[in-house]
Amino acid sequence: MRGGATYVASLRDGRTVFLDGERVDDVTKHPAFVEPIRKIAETYDQAAAAPDVTTVVDPATGRHFGAMWLIPRSADDIEIRRRVHRFWAEPSYGLMGRTPDHVASVITAFASWRQLFDRAGRQFGDNIVRFWEKARAEDLYLSYAIVPPQIDRSQPAHRQPEPFLYPGAVRERDDGIVVRGCQAIATSAAMADWLFLSYITPLAPGDDDYALSLVMPMNADGLKLYPRRPFAAQATSVYDYPLSSRFDELDVTVVFEDVFVPWEQVFIYRRVDLVNAQFHETPSHTMANFQSLVRFGVKLEFLAGLAMKLVELHSNEGNAATQAHLGGEIAALCAAFEGLVHAAQRFPLVSEGVARPHPQYIYAGMSLQRRLIVDLMRAVRELAGGAFQALPSSSASFDSPETCADTERYYRSGVASARDRVKLLKLIWDMVGTEFAGRQLQYEMFYSAAQPVVNARMFRAYDWAKAKAMVDRCLGEY
Ligand SMILES: Cc1cc2nc3c(=O)[nH]c(=O)nc-3n(C[C@H](O)[C@H](O)[C@H](O)COP(=O)(O)OP(=O)(O)OC[C@H]3O[C@@H](n4cnc5c(N)ncnc54)[C@H](O)[C@@H]3O)c2cc1C
Repeated sequence: MRGGATYVASLRDGRTVFLDGERVDDVTKHPAFVEPIRKIAETYDQAAAAPDVTTVVDPATGRHFGAMWLIPRSADDIEIRRRVHRFWAEPSYGLMGRTPDHVASVITAFASWRQLFDRAGRQFGDNIVRFWEKARAEDLYLSYAIVPPQIDRSQPAHRQPEPFLYPGAVRERDDGIVVRGCQAIATSAAMADWLFLSYITPLAPGDDDYALSLVMPMNADGLKLYPRRPFAAQATSVYDYPLSSRFDELDVTVVFEDVFVPWEQVFIYRRVDLVNAQFHETPSHTMANFQSLVRFGVKLEFLAGLAMKLVELHSNEGNAATQAHLGGEIAALCAAFEGLVHAAQRFPLVSEGVARPHPQYIYAGMSLQRRLIVDLMRAVRELAGGAFQALPSSSASFDSPETCADTERYYRSGVASARDRVKLLKLIWDMVGTEFAGRQLQYEMFYSAAQPVVNARMFRAYDWAKAKAMVDRCLGEY
């Protein structure tokens, strides 16, 4: 597997990133990106040092490859994938959602289901399989942009205020196509190697020019990356903002200014039906969101740990009401969610020789996720009272001769020094209250789709026939 240094070097490829109106020369040196890139690089190194968890053996060649590229054939294979997702989620405590294993799941699922791409000609199926093999061999880090900007949601792509606001093929050449337009968000794009571009929002009849599914390197000519306001660059210190300063994976708006894409990198071209089918007919939606749920489970555990540490900080752990709050509002939700993840893995749907995490549990998890994150954040806040607001304005209070005595004396707790107490409270505030925390909340609410969309998927995934049969049996008894 590739190591961290190779990964970091690969980002110095002349990619076009604009921040605050200025071009970023080298993302690996810019304060907005240094820390998240360092975290990903460290995790690549840790992954290379833990091949038992992070790799599997290709039976055809006997060579090891990254387990995130494994096509699952059974529940055991999904368990291998669960372990590698957890491996990638733990370094950021579940706070970085688009680690390399997320879009790797999409590409792997596509390769497992080439028959969908073959419908437009075998060359398209060949393209997806060949790209999956390349990505697997080189351990590529992909980001994806699959939702168009919110310009006019009442109209399809081809009826937006002008053509190619949404990304589409503006021209066809003998050797490929030229793509123009904009996609709303590609999280982690500035620190990934390749971009996958398509649509998960349904395309309409007449949207043929927009019906694309393709990949391009992040330094493709004409590909421009516009990150939102970065949190790391605003953080005054790691002590004051331990999460904002280190784990901001950065959401990026992507603009395609006549980007040329060779045919070999195109998986679907001008087929509305195939673009609309690709995420759900293949196992890609369930596999990618399995990663999201495993990662979210890590975040829940982290939140539970923070809650308990907060209670212990002020010696409230023996209080019966506090224990009930911890049990009912936090532990029950965390444990139930973990059960869903295991059920999705343990009881897969197997068809055409490919096992997908069971959609019923995937969509139940996704439907609950956005509620749980709100509930958990509120539950932790309930435990804090005014603790976050009664804190020194920054770590400088400990260093100033004029303020250090008061700071050490009055900000301590019965069991912790002021430095340790303030450190923990600032960590918790960065998890539930800062701008970074707000983005975390929005991520869990929308990383995949709006709640009604997820609920509709849950509606389709649930076994209503089985439930109704029980009622019929009851009715038949009398
Ligand atoms: C932090 C973050 C990171 C993201 N990362 C990525 C990424 O890496 N790649 C990527 O491609 N996208 C990414 N996204 C985009 C994400 O996929 C979309 O935000 C999501 O699909 C919702 O689409 P939207 O933003 O267009 O909102 P909309 O779908 O326009 O939703 C806005 C409002 O409309 C309502 N609504 C929408 N649809 C319906 C409906 N069918 N019925 C009733 N009400 C509805 C919703 O309830 C909501 O209130 C990210 C989003 C966030 C917030």
